[in-house]
Amino acid sequence: MPSETAAPGAPAAPGQIGLCVPNVGARELDYLRECIETNFVSSVGAFVDRFERDVAAVMEMPHGIATASGTAALHVALLVAGIEPDDEVLVSDLTFIAPVNAIRYANAWPVLVDAEPETWQMDVSRVADFLRDGCERRDGVLRNRASGRRVRAVMPVHIVGHPVDMQPLLALAAEFGLAVIEDASESLGARYRGAPVGSHAGLACLSFNGNKLLTTGGGGMILTRSADSAQRARYLTTQAKDDSIEFVHGAVGYNYRLTNIQAAVGCAQVERLPEFLAAKRRIAARYAEMCAGLAGVHAMPAAEWADPAYWMYTVRLDNKHFPDGSRPLMRALASQGIQARPLWQPMHRSPAHAGALALGGDVADRLNAECLSLPCSTGLDAAEQERVVDAVTRWATTASR
Ligand SMILES: *Cc1c(COP(=O)(O)O)cnc(C)c1O
Repeated sequence: MPSETAAPGAPAAPGQIGLCVPNVGARELDYLRECIETNFVSSVGAFVDRFERDVAAVMEMPHGIATASGTAALHVALLVAGIEPDDEVLVSDLTFIAPVNAIRYANAWPVLVDAEPETWQMDVSRVADFLRDGCERRDGVLRNRASGRRVRAVMPVHIVGHPVDMQPLLALAAEFGLAVIEDASESLGARYRGAPVGSHAGLACLSFNGNKLLTTGGGGMILTRSADSAQRARYLTTQAKDDSIEFVHGAVGYNYRLTNIQAAVGCAQVERLPEFLAAKRRIAARYAEMCAGLAGVHAMPAAEWADPAYWMYTVRLDNKHFPDGSRPLMRALASQGIQARPLWQPMHRSPAHAGALALGGDVADRLNAECLSLPCSTGLDAAEQERVVDAVTRWATTASR
């Protein structure tokens, strides 16, 4: 059953409708050919520089440092932000696992913040309660009262193309002296109060994995407003090289660079960003229209301060109408060759992060049970989307209580 087992970023089998597959073509091929013909295939090359400039411009940030993956970008961003072993970092509970893993790579500890029910994003009021009631300042250092550890940063993850409410979060971070690292991997192209998601904290990360809005096959980027941070990030992602002739390294760095081949694909993809965003919004509008006609099937949220990118179109099935949650719909769609996926297992349930401190988690659990992402590849055509709409509509009208 390829529809149930295929990875979300993989090409769909013939006749199947994939969840969110890459959209690459002639322009990507032209740029790749240029890499091969000029022999610039590795981590030095014109496409890497150009990709960093192009993405930074889209993000309205002065510096971009391309990396081998989004996870690598998050790891180095944490180091650049000054996270030290045993620090605590607040992070979204309802997220793909990468940002939480990155916190552990830095030998720091995640504090999992439940989702907020309206937008599904990090609940900033829980962050406020934790900082005010669960922390204290000792010798000028903010510490978690329960664990005694230093609370150093917050990493809001803008999930499924919609922003976290950044204004109150940035105010809290300023009040309590926290670093802020935005994980904008899923929300490239979205805007928060008029400015790009990922441009609000001064330090952000992106992913160019296969199913992301722009793909390089695999890749990521650190975006920063600080020239010093940019220099440090570049140093750490290139093995912390002090002298490349004598092989002198000033620290334990990482081989986290993106190759010119990957960046070539990325340059072609950035040029197509307006086309991709328009496709995501067109697909979202059609699904929203479908939801408006179905009792208990809720369209994806959009806060009044948000201009979502609709990276992963996700509906929520009200448990009054659908007490068994979203999995029966997922199976019904799979039987018709249509790939759909729930949102991630909340991190407070992940065996990989067993024992992590969690601030709530009930909302994330409920969203995990009730939500389902529907096919929303930028190459999805109208006829394919109608097949999905028909299948969801037929299932919802017969399964609804
Ligand atoms: C995709 C993703 C990442 C990065 O993943 P990579 O595969 O390492 O590029 C990070 N955070 C979130 C929320 C993601 O969805």
